[in-house]
Amino acid sequence: MNRKWLTAIILFFLLTANCLPIFGGHSAVAETGGTEINASTVNVRTGPGLSYSVSGSLAKGDKVTVTGQEGDWLEVQAGDASGWIASWLTSSSSDNAAAQKAVSSVDRLNVRAQPELSASVLTQMNAGDQAELIGETGDWVEVEFRNTRGFVSKQYITATKTSTENPAPAANDVSSFEIAVSALNVRKKADLSSDKIATVHQGEVYSVQSLQGNWVEIRLSADATGWVYAFYGHLSDKSAKSAASAAAETVTVLTAGTNLRSEPSTASGVVSRADAGDQLTVIDKQGDWYQVALPDGQEAFIATWVVTAGETAIAQKTTEKKEASRKAGTLNGLTIVLDPGHGGRDGGTVGVRGTTEKDLTLKTAEALSHYLRSAGAEVIMTRQSDVYVDLRKRVSDGHQVAADAFISIHYDAIADNSVHGFTTYFMHSYQQQLGEYVNAGLEGKLSLDSRGVRNGNYLVLRENQQPAILVELGYLSNFNEERIVTTSQFRDQAALGLYTGIINYFDAQLGQ
Ligand SMILES: [Zn+2]
Repeated sequence: MNRKWLTAIILFFLLTANCLPIFGGHSAVAETGGTEINASTVNVRTGPGLSYSVSGSLAKGDKVTVTGQEGDWLEVQAGDASGWIASWLTSSSSDNAAAQKAVSSVDRLNVRAQPELSASVLTQMNAGDQAELIGETGDWVEVEFRNTRGFVSKQYITATKTSTENPAPAANDVSSFEIAVSALNVRKKADLSSDKIATVHQGEVYSVQSLQGNWVEIRLSADATGWVYAFYGHLSDKSAKSAASAAAETVTVLTAGTNLRSEPSTASGVVSRADAGDQLTVIDKQGDWYQVALPDGQEAFIATWVVTAGETAIAQKTTEKKEASRKAGTLNGLTIVLDPGHGGRDGGTVGVRGTTEKDLTLKTAEALSHYLRSAGAEVIMTRQSDVYVDLRKRVSDGHQVAADAFISIHYDAIADNSVHGFTTYFMHSYQQQLGEYVNAGLEGKLSLDSRGVRNGNYLVLRENQQPAILVELGYLSNFNEERIVTTSQFRDQAALGLYTGIINYFDAQLGQ
């Protein structure tokens, strides 16, 4: 650890031991743009992002002076040391000031007119009584207790925040909750493991029924309510829109039953499990692991390869808008992900003549991309060269851009070299229609036999929450078919067939 930060932390420790920061920070820090650490430990980094190296750390309750901001990151100063911390792990001092309370630790604590023992007693506080904390003078704290303003001896007072005593504001104090992330699961109960009953979206505002811990019960319709995690939105009575919660860096879980672990290692214990689509707030990144905050307040680690970064994993698109502007026969406004199978160290199948599947799939995808782009589609390729790309990464690429269609392109092989023909696979029911249109498109353009539309348990389909299909464009294990499919004429016809199927699929949606 950097020596400066160590000094800073020791300084903080000393201050905290005397309960000083809470009292002192109230007036002094707020003016200079102070902020307070919310998470149990926050790494201080050399720059504004998780990719910058860690130069130190701060503990919960530590106060620092904010000297700059870049996006969601704050440049902070503590003593003569400075660095960057994630804004969503902090809360501004001014927000806290109002919530600060002085709690009496003794019975019959005198509240005096002046900060001296000789001053007259205005009233008394008993153990557990709370007063508004106004300020501090020497060994005295100025408080407002039941409409009386006076001074109490600091040694009999514990400074605290309302939030720690009463984590959720009373429901009648707030009327609505605004969703701050692009897609948020609504659950039956205030519990991550409870059933999802709906999805709500960024900017939508719901009336609040009740609050429970970190969960908010929102009214979905006249006869339905559900629970969302409070961190992903704002209660409307909050004056300052805390940029913290809105801009929190999140990751979205790709697979149901994903392990959340106690340490950044697959060897460590499983703390909890997450569902596909669950969004978790990132506290830190350590190597290939994200440290995330769980709704129950725990922290855990999740591997970077099982999540998609960003709030918008499965962005629910406003298709209505796009449908209106799109004309039949065009793909304007649509995003199509092309997934050339295999690549890099994964060559795919090898034909009897030595053809490598990974080369053919890339060439075919490139040919198809030209047709799609000329019709107005935005085309994203999961790989554009001979590189290895993890299957989950391919799926997450599609989720990231909220793909309207995901087309995985492959060539087949099987021990029986008499087997031939092309096949279109789907897995989920929401993928079937795309499969049928595309297979029909191929049937119209290719001389090979069609093996039809089939259900196939491929990862790129199984994990895909969008219309996704996988086409096997003939058998490289069949001597005759390998000769055909390696020609540029075949590739062009295959691309044209896929393109026709895709156009017809989206045109059919216009009429619905
Ligand atoms: Zn393949």
